Amino acid sequence: MTKADVKNEMLEKDEKYVWHSMKPYKPDATMVAKSAKGSWITDVDGQRYLDAMSGLWCVNVGYGREELAEAAYQQMKDLSYMPLTQSHEAAIKLGEKINQMLGDDYVVFFSNSGSEANEAAFKMVRQYHQQKGDHYRTKFISRYRAYHGSSTSALAATGQAQRKYKYEPLGPGFLHVAPPDEYRNNHSEADRWGAEEIDQVMTWEYSESIAGVIMEPIITGGGVIVPPEQYMKEVKEICEHHGALMIVDEVICGFGRTGKPFGYMNYGVKPDIITMAKGITSAYLPLSATAVKREIYETFCGDDTYDFFRHINTFGGHPAACAVALKNIEIMEKENLFDRSRDLGEALKNDLGNRLQGHDNVGDVRGKGLLIGIEMVEDKQTKEPLAADQVNRIIGFCKDKGIIIGKNGMTVAGFNNVLTLAPPLSIEEEDIKLLLDTVVEAIHSIGS
Ligand code: PMP
Repeated sequence: MTKADVKNEMLEKDEKYVWHSMKPYKPDATMVAKSAKGSWITDVDGQRYLDAMSGLWCVNVGYGREELAEAAYQQMKDLSYMPLTQSHEAAIKLGEKINQMLGDDYVVFFSNSGSEANEAAFKMVRQYHQQKGDHYRTKFISRYRAYHGSSTSALAATGQAQRKYKYEPLGPGFLHVAPPDEYRNNHSEADRWGAEEIDQVMTWEYSESIAGVIMEPIITGGGVIVPPEQYMKEVKEICEHHGALMIVDEVICGFGRTGKPFGYMNYGVKPDIITMAKGITSAYLPLSATAVKREIYETFCGDDTYDFFRHINTFGGHPAACAVALKNIEIMEKENLFDRSRDLGEALKNDLGNRLQGHDNVGDVRGKGLLIGIEMVEDKQTKEPLAADQVNRIIGFCKDKGIIIGKNGMTVAGFNNVLTLAPPLSIEEEDIKLLLDTVVEAIHSIGS
């Protein structure tokens, strides 16, 4: 059998047995991955692809690290399972490590996915207010265009209608405001880039009914929306003023993606709760965490039988996943990947900006660290999003050249006109150059 035959046979079975997420099945567009090393994936047909999206923005240290496989192997031999109703060494060490990365006053609750980390956060926040006698504080505010997960409350927090409308009613109590999109000017300095809207919504909804705000430092899937410098600080002050807690969703921004250990660290705030997943293990195994300020945690430690957090998951904090996370963070620190993300990302963003400046369809190039968005428009004046077939042509051009890039945005309902780049933080410099040249060439391939 040739490699092409092997692939075709796999695709036939794939079509029959595997339900794929997000898109209709398209055999000729589907990769059947066989192996991966560093930033490169190899298909069963032998074709190689530079993965400039790190899977789903998650393979931060790159593929095929033997130390991570060994950490899982060793841990599974020593202790294959222990629920966190008890404890185990790997979870304790990882809790301590995360606490140290965050600056020492957080307690960590482990789950398996970003959605679950956010669900846990919502439940903690509601219970926290209850326990303080603040019985009306049940509502959360999040931003349009943000994504916070697929489960019914994380999806309710999500601000992307087209992902939601077929599954409603979702978890109640989630309100939305517009994000601070400097390119599209849907807020301005005059209204403190939307912080004022949050303040107003809290007042109009009745201050004492607001439990918290959830936000990513930089909206990722909604189109790499980088906030103005002061925005997060202002939102934090508003939360404090109204007695609401700030949850920061670091599922993508965490673990170096924005050039700092966590995205919020770019903006001088100390969140009350931080959720993280993806990069915590560089996606070698599923794991997520909800880190909570100690004083919030302490309200769960009272003598009352019902004070504790009545939330359990079978696999959260799995020993092998925790062992892999510890080794993964060790690699990030040893190889200085946070600074590397900052520096390589800044250079890539500037190079893209310079080389695409004159292109009629490039509205904006933005990002932080190795998290970059290129907003494609029909017209720079009207900022009308570039037509889907043109965006897809650019992505197809890159794929034909062996490079995987993403498209995100939700600029208008369902419209993804922001090309996204989020390669492994360990990407080789020559591969960054290849990525830069290919993306520039791909964008030029649609015309001037
Ligand atoms: N929050 C953000 C910001 C995300 O990007 C995602 C997933 N892409 C999630 C939460 C949900 O994570 P998961 O898919 O692991 O449930």
